[in-house]
Amino acid sequence: MNAKRILIVEDEQPIREMVVFALANAGYEVQEAADARQAQSCIAERLPDLVLLDWMLPGISGIDFARRLKKEDLTRELPVIMLTARAEEEDKVQGLESGADDYVTKPFSPRELVARIRAVLRRGGPAAEDEILRANGLCLDLASHRVSTGETLLDMGPTEYRLLEFFMSHPERVYSRGQLLDRVWGSNVYVEERTVDVHIRRLRKVLEPHGYDALIQTVRGSGYRFSTRV
Ligand code: CA
Repeated sequence: MNAKRILIVEDEQPIREMVVFALANAGYEVQEAADARQAQSCIAERLPDLVLLDWMLPGISGIDFARRLKKEDLTRELPVIMLTARAEEEDKVQGLESGADDYVTKPFSPRELVARIRAVLRRGGPAAEDEILRANGLCLDLASHRVSTGETLLDMGPTEYRLLEFFMSHPERVYSRGQLLDRVWGSNVYVEERTVDVHIRRLRKVLEPHGYDALIQTVRGSGYRFSTRV
């Protein structure tokens, strides 16, 4: 198998060097860029498998660049991990809103970074097709699109299925209605945010007889979260 290619976009040279060293050690092929402009030309030359993107960059910010990547057809599916020095929950939400797949807060250990990269690459890879997502006995089979608990199959519509699949593969995070529309319905679809509430209600109804409706939590003023913690 060919080595996965990671593009690191970071203006601070010591951090960039540390990351390059750690990723090369972990068997990745690494490209470097000091700002969004350089990153853009790296991507144009050859599409990497994942981008590590610093939040605070000179010129175009990491957030704006992530948004831009998610808008372009070529890079829409390109996984992005944001590197951020800010740990506040609100900033994380903003980071994810920009389309980032994950974020790592500075200072981070090389081991943590590599673990996150593996997780994000796994999520998008073809291997994901064979996986079964599980939460407290609720099973979602990505290959057959079946949702079950024990021997019981749960019957749900295609949108509810996609919503549940998204939630189960992105647990313990808050997503706004707008983000859910983008990620589950697709960013080119024009539907009202209320639509999300309708399908959440339907999904909860399917899950309710088995006690799983509590996994889909309403976060007041923010959106929804899939969590096995109460
Ligand atoms: Ca920086």
